[in-house]
Amino acid sequence: MPTHTPSAPRTCIPADLDASRFENVEAHFAELLARSVNSQPEFDQWLLDRSELDAACSETQANLYITMTCATDDEEAQKAYADYIEGVVPKLKPVSFDLDRRLVELSTRFASPRHAILVRDTKADVDLYRQENVAIETELAKLSQAYDQLIGAMTVQFEGQERTLPQLAVFQERTDRDLRERAFRAGAERRLRDKDAIEGLFDHMVTLRHSVATNAGFQGFGDYAFKAKHRFDYTPRHCFDFHESCERLIVPMLRRQEERRRRALGVDTLRPWDLVVDVKGRGPLKPFDGGADLMRRTIATFRLLDPRLATMIGSLGTGSEARGSRDGAGLDLDSRKGKAPGGYQYMRDRSRKPFIFMNAANTSRDVTTMVHEAGHAFHSMLTVDEPLLAYRHAPMEFCEVASMSMELLTLPHMNTRESFYADDADYLRAKRQQIERSVSLLPWIAMIDAFQHWIYANPTHRREDRKIHWLSLDRRFGSSCSWEGLDDARSYLWHRQPHLFSVPFYYIEYGIAQLGALQLWLLSLEKGERTAIDFYLKALSLGGTRTLPELFEACGLRFDFGYDTIQRLADRAEQELDRLPE
Ligand SMILES: [Zn+2]
Repeated sequence: MPTHTPSAPRTCIPADLDASRFENVEAHFAELLARSVNSQPEFDQWLLDRSELDAACSETQANLYITMTCATDDEEAQKAYADYIEGVVPKLKPVSFDLDRRLVELSTRFASPRHAILVRDTKADVDLYRQENVAIETELAKLSQAYDQLIGAMTVQFEGQERTLPQLAVFQERTDRDLRERAFRAGAERRLRDKDAIEGLFDHMVTLRHSVATNAGFQGFGDYAFKAKHRFDYTPRHCFDFHESCERLIVPMLRRQEERRRRALGVDTLRPWDLVVDVKGRGPLKPFDGGADLMRRTIATFRLLDPRLATMIGSLGTGSEARGSRDGAGLDLDSRKGKAPGGYQYMRDRSRKPFIFMNAANTSRDVTTMVHEAGHAFHSMLTVDEPLLAYRHAPMEFCEVASMSMELLTLPHMNTRESFYADDADYLRAKRQQIERSVSLLPWIAMIDAFQHWIYANPTHRREDRKIHWLSLDRRFGSSCSWEGLDDARSYLWHRQPHLFSVPFYYIEYGIAQLGALQLWLLSLEKGERTAIDFYLKALSLGGTRTLPELFEACGLRFDFGYDTIQRLADRAEQELDRLPE
């Protein structure tokens, strides 16, 4: 497995280029734009040099981002990142566009079949670029930041303490039903206080996005977004099929699971605060203790699944690191004051070293996050020998197969002393949680995606119509719990989904990927883990050199999100769940 440092490519971009200042990279962009290219080898060198220049810029941004998220209370780190985003990125956009145009031009004379995907994607970007949209996009980025600030500032006085909404959400696991209800209502009321402000931001965003699309010659933002996201292998029609199959196959299954939950809890009606609590009244699982322990157990789990994976994840560090990406460190796992929320994997493109960021707090959720991000890191590590930066990254729909499949494939190996759940009851509980999460995500994805298709197909809709449409989707895809007396909370539930505000149309990718991950899980159950992991490693190594359907095929999966595929997966998942205790 490639845990080696890749050999330095022959390039005119200095190894120690400090790309944090535009002055330092400007001359390299100009040189590439002006360089005469008269043969295929010269074109290859041009591509390689551009790739290394882009990688230097990307790694600069990665390190600034990592440093900022590891210390949100460090003003200097915050300022350095903001300066880069506001001062350097807007200058990089036009010079990158010039190089894109040059690339497309040169490709007509010198491109080989190997370049087909790169040229296809770059052409789409060139087609869509409009100078007048740059300012609109900056405006949209500011609106999205305003949304983040509104949400981030929401706190509630609860049980004698001021709490953020994520802190409040933890109460949904408490076994005292009355406490859960009060926590739920407190959170919902706090969100609704900013309802009008959020509605206003969203109205403005929809209008601006519609003009971005019409400026680029499109009828609406939906078609524009499909091209901008390089969705060449599926259409809105495929997404609508996915919605319908989820409605017909997954929703009834989840409703059956909810009925089991209602009976196990012994309540007349399931309410929104009854959906995550353990039905047997047990406290939360505690699968590890601290980042170093998390890492040891993760490596042990992967060793049982496949030693090749254990070697790769083991090369990232010990898990006790707490210094961001300084000195090339690959991990920062433990939760501590000043760290941004969430978890991510970030590939540093020039040095070709992945970094995993987490807020580990000894929960079973953290175990899932760790093996998920490990999947992304495998993907990054398996492509380090690819010379072109664009080909070291796969399409999002496949990147999430790499990560989500690890959530399921590691499951059979978590029941040992070296791994996370030595106790059988804990293990079965964690397994049930994981399968339930993997499946119940699908209708929510369908709902968010269907909502966006409607929004941008009707850009001049009224707020009232939007609400009515959302509620109709909630009846199709949502939980069967009773919302009696909570009409507003239900009507504006979508306000909590940041993708709708910040990255429109980005969500169906998770659905496509989850179906891939579930298929790989089935493959491992039916044909054996070795076969599944062989497919996995081969497909990940291809990076972005193949089309999306080709990547799925290389991984032994069907690129299909229609009825038959979903039925096979839903049946198997339900079988597994029926075998597990509550
Ligand atoms: Zn991911």
